[in-house]
Amino acid sequence: MQIVMSKHVPMRTCIICRAKKPKPLLLRHTCPHDHSRHLEPDLQGIGLGRGFYTCRDKACAEKIDRFRGWIHKCKGVS
Ligand SMILES: [Zn+2]
Repeated sequence: MQIVMSKHVPMRTCIICRAKKPKPLLLRHTCPHDHSRHLEPDLQGIGLGRGFYTCRDKACAEKIDRFRGWIHKCKGVS
């Protein structure tokens, strides 16, 4: 009988530094609902819609304000 790995941790890519990390180590952000210019942090990781992930390090988390790649990806999502 084959032993199955008990926990599969999903990997996500930080949109700032492109590092692949286990999802729990990343911060999730979702598209803003009010057409504001900033992604909304999704602290519980349960927000609906498209998610963007960054490292929890300040270096990456702070740069998300300058990251604009999400704008067209969020279009049409409300
Ligand atoms: Zn990063």
